[in-house]
Amino acid sequence: MNPFSYARATSVAEAIRLHRTTPGAHFLAGGTNIVDLMRENVVRPAAIVDINRLPLRDIEDTPEGGLRAGALVTHSKLAWDARVIERYPLLSQAILAGASAQIRNAGTVGGNVLQRTRCLYFYDPSTCCNKRAPGSGCAALDGVNRMHAILGASEHCIATHPSDMCVALEALDATIHIAGHDGTRTVPLAEFLLLPGDTPHRETTLAEDELITAIELPREGYAQHYAYVKLRDRQSYAFALVSVALGMQIEDGVVRSFACALGGVAHRPWRDRAAETLVNGCEASDTLAIERFADSLVSGAEARRGNAFKVEMTRRAIVRAFEQARASEATPAAAGEDASPPPDDTPPEEDRA
Ligand SMILES: Cc1cc2nc3c(=O)[nH]c(=O)nc-3n(C[C@H](O)[C@H](O)[C@H](O)COP(=O)(O)OP(=O)(O)OC[C@H]3O[C@@H](n4cnc5c(N)ncnc54)[C@H](O)[C@@H]3O)c2cc1C
Ligand code: SF4
Repeated sequence: MNPFSYARATSVAEAIRLHRTTPGAHFLAGGTNIVDLMRENVVRPAAIVDINRLPLRDIEDTPEGGLRAGALVTHSKLAWDARVIERYPLLSQAILAGASAQIRNAGTVGGNVLQRTRCLYFYDPSTCCNKRAPGSGCAALDGVNRMHAILGASEHCIATHPSDMCVALEALDATIHIAGHDGTRTVPLAEFLLLPGDTPHRETTLAEDELITAIELPREGYAQHYAYVKLRDRQSYAFALVSVALGMQIEDGVVRSFACALGGVAHRPWRDRAAETLVNGCEASDTLAIERFADSLVSGAEARRGNAFKVEMTRRAIVRAFEQARASEATPAAAGEDASPPPDDTPPEEDRA
């Protein structure tokens, strides 16, 4: 048992002050990841700053026609919000493909972005892991690496970001709102989550004294043509081997706008905006265009012994997502176990107040 202090903040300013003035402090949101990490001795906070009383649980329309969700909005509340279902069904579908109803009721938007990798070695303090213990090595390089990255990895770390929600947020060009001692700032998710390089322990651009306050979605939500395809070992309660969040606008049979992000294959949701031009402007019936796009995305893949299968799996998942999105076949049931909100998947009492 590692002793730690506990403080409950009631305002964003107080949370930042407590975190800043207490060395080794960590924020606590839904606790579905940080508590596991503490139990496994992977993270040993000297102090916990509980942010659950902060006023960050609202989902609001923005003046620009987008949507802003506070950092403490739960997965369930966001996935079943009528505006999200209508305007950003890709996000709803991705969230419902993740975890379980119980975890979605507790887990928050901010915590989902900042959740740690599911690499087995990261969770086992008896092994070498540059992310947990910088400079110690990477046991996954020649170890069990079936779940690991094929894109953007380094010789120091081949871990993946495990989120489903973030893959959709990346395809939707979401931004992250941040508050800190020196004020507030907004950063695109694409720039917030980092690749491992030679500092895999640095996962985001969040400074020590900063807090995520919200995520924001722009107006375009690809409400007509979208798909979230998640390939995993079990149909429920399993992280993605490969996932694809794909949205497009089709006018007169032509793809006018196209966005595609991948999960389960890199240290952050993977998106190649330059390659997306291979599909933009093509006939929606042109299957060769999406195949060229898929080939281009995996052309830089570097596989290990255990995860080589992911290269072809990624290629096929992209094509499948495109076909689903084109036909507008996608429904929440297609991606996960949930076709409608089960009784235990509704926001907890305090969220509904
Ligand atoms: C069995 C299991 C299965 C799962 N399956 C999936 C899955 O299939 N797909 C998926 O996407 N996820 C999955 N998850 C992960 C789950 O989505 C995350 O644990 C959850 O999103 C974390 O949110 P939280 O609020 O509980 O974060 P916490 O555990 O409270 O915090 C996580 C981290 O974020 C920090 N933090 C939290 N909020 C803020 C904030 N606002 N500002 C700054 N720092 C903050 C904390 O200090 C901590 O470091 C699974 C989890 C479990 C346990
Ligand atoms: S892949 Fe990354 S998280 Fe996993 S053991 Fe290697 S350094 Fe650690």
